[in-house]
Amino acid sequence: MYTYYIGIGSNLGDREGYLAFAVSELTNTDGVRSVSHSSWMETPPWGPVEQGPFLNGILKVPATLEPLAMLDTILHIERLAGRQREIHWGPRTLDLDIVWIEDEQGHPVRVKETTLVVPHPYFWERRFVLEPLQEVYPTFTYEGVSISSRIEELRLLEA
Ligand code: AMP
Repeated sequence: MYTYYIGIGSNLGDREGYLAFAVSELTNTDGVRSVSHSSWMETPPWGPVEQGPFLNGILKVPATLEPLAMLDTILHIERLAGRQREIHWGPRTLDLDIVWIEDEQGHPVRVKETTLVVPHPYFWERRFVLEPLQEVYPTFTYEGVSISSRIEELRLLEA
């Protein structure tokens, strides 16, 4: 059994509808035990492309699926949501990223495959990932730093 922390976002069309769709699809996936999630948070668009604001959150998903099988599952759900990949970093109906994985003992699971890197390479830089992660995992620490002090640090850097 693993616990997956999955970043979720949408900034096109019925954003809440796409997030709810992903929760429901994941809940109905074989090997997934349950899906709980943070509140959905509105965040400004990120990156070089002009686009609308995102609705972001974190899903907490205990599951027996191996990491690459979980990746296949979330890519399939993105495709079902009709995500178009024409513009890199452009608007998307649904974006799912595996941010963090723990094993049954609560130890971090690291993955370095060509198609999957966990922890997600940018998660520790992004407030729109860390703020919802803090809601579902308030005691989270990374390399000795608590999530609350990292969020504070990022706030100060952005100010
Ligand atoms: P993007 O469209 O930017 O979300 O990138 C999706 C691609 O990133 C997928 O096809 C994955 O193979 C790859 N990828 C690498 N690491 C991860 C991760 N931790 N979670 C989700 N996708 C990942």
